[in-house]
Amino acid sequence: MKKWIKDEKWLYPLNTGTWKEMTDFHKGEGPDPRVGPAMNVMELARKICTMDKMKMYRIVHEAYEFAKREGEGGRKNYGIDEADMWTKTDQYYTGKRTIKHGTIRFSRPKDWKSARGARGGPSYGITVPLCGGAGRLIEVIVHEITHVIHLSRYKSSIINGKRRPHDLVFNRIFLKLMKPIMGLKESETNPFNMGYSVGKGYAPSRKIERMLNQMVKDRDEKIMRLFKYQWGGKPTKKRSNRIPRGWINHVMYYINGNCYCYYSEEAHEQIVSAFPELIHLIANPKDDNCLIDMLKGKAKMPDDLPLLIERCVDEIVYSYEYESEYDSCYKGYIKTVESGHSWFINWSKSNM
Ligand SMILES: [Zn+2]
Repeated sequence: MKKWIKDEKWLYPLNTGTWKEMTDFHKGEGPDPRVGPAMNVMELARKICTMDKMKMYRIVHEAYEFAKREGEGGRKNYGIDEADMWTKTDQYYTGKRTIKHGTIRFSRPKDWKSARGARGGPSYGITVPLCGGAGRLIEVIVHEITHVIHLSRYKSSIINGKRRPHDLVFNRIFLKLMKPIMGLKESETNPFNMGYSVGKGYAPSRKIERMLNQMVKDRDEKIMRLFKYQWGGKPTKKRSNRIPRGWINHVMYYINGNCYCYYSEEAHEQIVSAFPELIHLIANPKDDNCLIDMLKGKAKMPDDLPLLIERCVDEIVYSYEYESEYDSCYKGYIKTVESGHSWFINWSKSNM
């Protein structure tokens, strides 16, 4: 297998942890609950995209014949297929191609929250956010690739005047692809047995998702074949070690007269005269006594600094509130400054 496919960035863990476990982990108050078996999502995608051409042809052709017998079908379409998508993906990740469009893309949402929003199409390629349960993720990856396989060969059915991308052809292909992965019975590759009807084209995908979730829960050996790698676990970060810096920048901009908002020269003079000590103490980041160093414990914080900062923050919020009536981005700045400052108040309580 090519080196780029083996990269750890494609790994997804079998254990996704409970909401509380993950929250505790992010706070630095618990271990990484995901440690254990992991699958390589790119490997799964490759397996389907580079399938034997004749085998793929037979699956698609049979799905079309199946749908035709049931009164569905679709007109022929000749587009970019899953093999082209794989070629583009390989070129993209080996640097031979710069355009992402048409490739396989996985994103990693920061909070791992279960989110929809996966997409797939012949010229678009696929995008899948890596989040939620591992069972669901397997379903989503195969589902999106199925759109590419299906729509590169057939136009989606139009039934009762509506375009149906999750028609019988789609569902039959999808279930036939899922069959070897999860060991479906032949009867379970019949979309009708999996809840399909016109207007309920998503039902078989939902059913497969529930079955996969159960298999993940049971550590079913068929599904465990996918999870042959290890999620090593990321080192826990203590929350107290992270110093929020955005608000400090605002304070520094403000007292340096480089504030985002506009104020007159007199106002600047006033600020400078009101906070001369503050400027001396924190405005110059190269200064040994700068605020960041104090927060890191590298320099001692003067006793009156928290009070000076509090007064300065009041001024900043006051002026930003005025600005926010004209430009809504100041509302965000206020949030940054206020939440940073309350972090600082907590910090000074336990460190001074
Ligand atoms: Zn879909």
